[in-house]
Amino acid sequence: MTFHESDLRADLAAAYRLAERFGLNEGISNHFTARLPEPEDRFLVIPHGLHWSEVRASQLLVVDGDGIVVEGDGEVEPSALYIHSRILRARPDAMCVLHTHQTHATAISVIEGGRLLPVSQNALRFHDRIAYDSHYGGAADHAAEGERLAGALGDAAVLFHANHGVIVVGESIARGFDDLYFLERAAEVQLLAQSTGQALRSVPDSIAERYVSESRPNALRQQALVHFRALRRVLDAESPGYAD
Ligand SMILES: [Zn+2]
Repeated sequence: MTFHESDLRADLAAAYRLAERFGLNEGISNHFTARLPEPEDRFLVIPHGLHWSEVRASQLLVVDGDGIVVEGDGEVEPSALYIHSRILRARPDAMCVLHTHQTHATAISVIEGGRLLPVSQNALRFHDRIAYDSHYGGAADHAAEGERLAGALGDAAVLFHANHGVIVVGESIARGFDDLYFLERAAEVQLLAQSTGQALRSVPDSIAERYVSESRPNALRQQALVHFRALRRVLDAESPGYAD
């Protein structure tokens, strides 16, 4: 497949705008990044201070692993550099790193021993794909914390970082965004159900394992692509300019 940086920029700008539409953003904090294939260690990120709803593809910065802005106007925020550069370095399979403080998933991260429970179909897609980090040591604005978070993520697709938020990695922006979206929906349903105080129905491991059996990754990959294309059409109509 031929790589076009313009496609990657448009997808990343779309992901920022879509996340804002779904309420997954928080102020001007948090970041989505996308790996550039070469030179090694370079990635795209939003310039500090820009709102997610106004991102344009051409505004995205190219930053190297040392935090040098090699293309574009603006600054890279330290936690964007240290969380994202370290995870991209540790996970060559990841094309994107999506970090948010999205409300419902973050609420699970502040519960002692909080876990995304296998109580809804949406939660089942994350069976055996989540890592939990119970250590919170302050803002992730230095290299050691970025490296520690990358270690806590390991080979998982999702990291719940205690008292902070979630980090999702994806083999493509479409796949990462699809996971981020469904993670929030699954967390929301779980917390709503828990708020009733009534017992939850857990799906047995055997069913969850069958749900994510061998054919499932391909189905999810295809669904993510179709979902993201549909969402980009909505943006094209209602929030044009993101791909410019
Ligand atoms: Zn954060």
